[in-house]
Formats: sequence, C-alpha cells, structure tokens
Amino acid sequence: MQLTDYVNTFGDYLKRRFGESVHKLSLSGNFTCPNRDGSLGFGGCTFCNATSFTASSSVKSIAEQLSLNRSGKSLKYLAYFQAYTSTYAEAKELNRLYLEALKGADIVGLCVGTRPDCLSNEALDLLAEIQACGYEVWVELGLQTAFDETLKLINRHHTFNDYVTAVKRLHDYNLKICTHLIIGLPSEELLHNLTTLELVLNEGVDALKLHQLHIVKGALMAKQYAEGQIKVLSLEEYAQIAAKIIQYTPKDILFERVSASVMDDSLIAPMWSKHRWPPINAITTILHEQGGQGSLVGEVFKKL
Ligand code: SF4
Repeated sequence: MQLTDYVNTFGDYLKRRFGESVHKLSLSGNFTCPNRDGSLGFGGCTFCNATSFTASSSVKSIAEQLSLNRSGKSLKYLAYFQAYTSTYAEAKELNRLYLEALKGADIVGLCVGTRPDCLSNEALDLLAEIQACGYEVWVELGLQTAFDETLKLINRHHTFNDYVTAVKRLHDYNLKICTHLIIGLPSEELLHNLTTLELVLNEGVDALKLHQLHIVKGALMAKQYAEGQIKVLSLEEYAQIAAKIIQYTPKDILFERVSASVMDDSLIAPMWSKHRWPPINAITTILHEQGGQGSLVGEVFKKL
C-alpha cells in the first residue's frame, strides 16, 4: 500500500513523460519578495521564516548549486527556483538565471515558485520561450487559501482575485500551474480547505501542493503561537483534511506533495512535521480505507 496507489503523483507523471525518475534540484536565485522589500510590505507572510534570507554575497552561483545539489539518484532533473519569489527580478536577470539553470545536459525543465501578483509579461514571455524549446516548465503559485480574510490575516498582501488573474494569464501563455495550499491556517477548518479547492479547480490547475501549517523560528507566527493565539493541527487532523482534499480532486490533477517536513532545528510546531513519512502513511491509510483521489468528486462537502 503506497500513496501512488491512490493519488496521481507528480513523480509518476514525470516518469511517464521522461521514461525515468526526474528529481527537482532546489536552487536559490537570491530573489527577494515584494512582501519583504517594502513594495507591498516589510514583515512578510506571518508563516514565512525571515531569518532564512541569505546575504547576497554568500549565495552560491547557479552552476555551483546545481553541482552540489545533484543527488546521484537520478539521471534527469528539473531546476527548481524555490526560495521566495522567483519571478521577482528584471527580465535580464531572470533570463540569466533561468538559462544558467538549464545549461546541464541532465536538466529537463524548470519550476519557478512565485506569488500570483509577480508575473510580469517579460517573465511569462521568457518561460513560454523556454517551454517552446521542449523543456518542462511549471509555475508554482503560492495561494495558500482562497479566503481573502485569511490572506489578510496572514499578511499575504494579495487577494484571491489576484490569483484568478494570474491563472488566466498563465493559461493564455499555455504554462502549467501548480498551486500551493496550506492546511491549518488560523481561522480555517475543513470546509475552508474544500471551498478553496473548489475555487482553484474552477479556475483550472494542473497540480496541487499541500502542506500543513508549520510554525518556524523567525516567522511572525512564532510569537503568535507562543502567546497561544494560534494552534497547529495534530497529525491525525491533518491527514483527515488532506485525504478529503485528495478525494474531492479529479484524477487528472497531479499532486506534487501531500505534506511537507521541516528537518532542521527551525521547527517549533507541530513536531510531527520533523518526519516525512508519518503524514504520508496516515493519508495513504485513509485513502486505502475510504477511497482514493477523485472518489468524492461531485459529492456535497461533508464535515469530518
Ligand atoms: S511566503 Fe513568499 S510571499 Fe510570503 S513573505 Fe515569504 S517569500 Fe514573500
């Protein structure tokens, strides 16, 4: 019994597309974020770890990162600009970074993580050009929730409507979209997550990434958590909600991730996030017992 028996995973999609396992190589382009540099705000999203921003001088070149991060387990890789807002730079700089990342013969594509309000025409032109050359290209959009009240509460400085606009533009460019959602945000419960899912599916999406709310050192939420203003989900609560999201998602949508882990000492809560497999195994067990991806499509949302 494994997750891939019940979920249409991104890993399996890549295997089908490339005939072998393809791993993502995480890269930092030394980007910042409009929610940090003052364009929109200085504090950042309340769950984001400010202390992990790195001084520009200490960031390694893309070539160095690519060589250091290759795992040896895979023959093909997607270059993944993961840190912060990886479309938030001048077109010339994006061009330099993306093309440098694609230089290796074993790099078959590019993934860029960004905000819905940070997609310039130049960035989209560039990504579409790269895709037209035969590379696999994914834009990973941080949405987290479709509820504007929650987006405000966590200081995202964008709205769901910004996401809708971004998705329309990405569709115009024929670029693939992976949307990131957080389960367990303050003031939210299962019905918020399922409503967010419905709204995201209505706009059209190719893949989803789910993860639990983490409280990490350096984030504004660390203080709120210490003061008892916010709570985190138990592993069982998280697995129940994640499983429901998967069951309400049509089978053709890929899941890039169904939970996340924080393996360094920045994690404050929940401590079960230190380990990768317990949440995946708990979700798999629920899907095995109650039905896998797509099994609740068309059903009215049910409370847990
Ligand atoms: S989560 Fe993303 S958008 Fe929010 S502050 Fe961190 S880098 Fe910026």
